[in-house]
Amino acid sequence: MSNKSLPKFEAIIYEVTGPVATITLDRPEMANAQNTQLIDEVDAAFDLADADDLVRVVVLAGRGKHFSSGHDLKALVGDTEPDEWRLMRETPEGKYHHEKVMYFDRCLRIRDFRKPTIAAVQGKCIAAGLMLACMCDLIVASDDASFQNPVLRMTGAAVEILVEPWEMPARKAKEFLLTASVLTAVEAERLGMVNRVVPRDDLSSTVREMAETIARVPPATAQVVKRSINKTLDLQGQRNAYDYHFQAHHWMHGTATALDALEARQKMSSMTEVFAEHRDPESDQKPA
Ligand code: ZN
Repeated sequence: MSNKSLPKFEAIIYEVTGPVATITLDRPEMANAQNTQLIDEVDAAFDLADADDLVRVVVLAGRGKHFSSGHDLKALVGDTEPDEWRLMRETPEGKYHHEKVMYFDRCLRIRDFRKPTIAAVQGKCIAAGLMLACMCDLIVASDDASFQNPVLRMTGAAVEILVEPWEMPARKAKEFLLTASVLTAVEAERLGMVNRVVPRDDLSSTVREMAETIARVPPATAQVVKRSINKTLDLQGQRNAYDYHFQAHHWMHGTATALDALEARQKMSSMTEVFAEHRDPESDQKPA
C-alpha cells in the first residue's frame, strides 16, 4: 500500500514497517485521552491494516509518557466533540447508542481483528485505556506502566466492557475495581494480564521483536489459532458477560446516583475539581 493512499490522521500515527503495522495514539499532551476523533482514526487504521496483505501483526502504542488516561471526559462535557454525538448523548437512548457504537463495538472490533495484535503500554493505563489495551492479544508493559480503573467512585459501573474478571482472578478483579487500587506492571504480569515487563527504553524494540516473531507464523495459521482461542473465551461466556455488563453499565448511567453526580460535576469548573473529591487524600493519582 503506498503512502499516498493513507488518510490524513491527526490523533494517531499509522506506520507500516515490514510485516508490522503500528497504530500510535498521538495526543500526548492529553495523556492520549480518547476523543471521537482518536477512536474514529484508530478504527480507520485497523481498516488499513486489515486491507494490507503485507501486514501480519498490528501493534497498538501510545506516544508520550502515558499509554492512555481513558475516554476524554473533558471533550464530552465541553464543546469539542462533533455535534451529532454531543447532542445524541443528551438523551438516555442516544447515550446508549453512542457508547454502543463508539466504545463497545469499536473495542470488540479490535478484540476480533483477524490479525494478531500487541499493545505496548507505558505510564498510566486507566479505565477506557485499560479496556483498549485489553482488546489486544498480547500486552507488553514497560516497568513504569500502571493500571487503574477508578470510575466506580465517580458512580460509573466501571467502563463499557468489563475486562477485569477475564484479565485477573475474580477476587482480584473485585479488589481492583472496588478499591480503585493501582496495579504496577510487575503485579499485572503476575496476575496474567500482561505478557512481559521490560525497561521503558526497551518497550518498542521488544514489541517489535515479538511482532516479527509472530509474523513468521503463516498468516492463515496465526489467524485461525487466534480465532480459536477467542472462541474458547466466548464458550466460557466472555461475550455474554460483556453484553450483560454493557446493559448493567447503562442501567447505572440512568440511576439517580449517577445523574445527581453528573449534575454536580457539570457545575464544577475543572476536571481537577471533579477528580479531587474521588481521590485518596494521601495519593497524588490523577485518573485523567
Ligand atoms: Zn458509559
